[in-house]
Amino acid sequence: MIRAMRPVVIAANWKMHTTPADAGELAREVARRTRVEGVTRVICPPFVCLAAVRDALVDADPDVGVGAQDVHYELAGAYTGDISAPMLAGLASWVIVGHSERRRDHDESDERIGRKVERAVDGGLRPILCVGERLDDRDAGQATEVVDGQLAGALFNRDGGRLAAAGLVIAYEPVWAIGTGRNASGQDAAAMAEAIRETLARLRWAAPAEIPILYGGSVTAANIGEFLSEPAIDGALVGGASLKPDEMAGIVGRAGVTAAARLAAIA
Ligand code: PEP
Repeated sequence: MIRAMRPVVIAANWKMHTTPADAGELAREVARRTRVEGVTRVICPPFVCLAAVRDALVDADPDVGVGAQDVHYELAGAYTGDISAPMLAGLASWVIVGHSERRRDHDESDERIGRKVERAVDGGLRPILCVGERLDDRDAGQATEVVDGQLAGALFNRDGGRLAAAGLVIAYEPVWAIGTGRNASGQDAAAMAEAIRETLARLRWAAPAEIPILYGGSVTAANIGEFLSEPAIDGALVGGASLKPDEMAGIVGRAGVTAAARLAAIA
């Protein structure tokens, strides 16, 4: 049951694709094709494309949010190649934190990911905190325990009320479903979303039911309905398909159906 009206969010993770020369045009096209009532849209391009995407969206559709794909856990310092929250001011209003590709390639620990979430909020950014198990975890029946551990490692002793008020979103992204074309089932994703809210309750968060939870992992226009028909799921973090305006039009269009149904349910 939806106890509060949670937003329906579709976030695009462009990963290491696009350049400053072509990102603006893609953003404009995606914005133009996804104008749907009630859906929160976010585009997360590479750092070097943030300005181009921001500028393109000012004209095309300022309702589309711009997000970064990472943020450092310190404000400044000797961290070659990294980007801090203050550097993102004016460029982004959202940020992906703890994506499994960064956990894998940059050895990101849960503790550091938690500090990144905190820094993001300090800097006025809305974090999308990613969690998800590997295939061997799921095969061993440990998926829920792994995700619970990631959340506890990142969020233990943090002020849940503050993070919730800042608009924290959690993305459940099973690692084995990312970029593989093999998505989780809607039922499994919904079960994990419920488990995530139970973990937040165990961490003594006052209102876990208010935290939007997205599914991510090989989402397409063809399968988004399976996830959005689950009341526990509030949208999607989309990788590969987010670079294709046709796919995004289908995904956001389906999200609009869920947004309208939720609005009608509380009216
Ligand atoms: C992602 O990058 O977060 C993601 C879910 O990728 P894909 O949709 O390509 O699986």
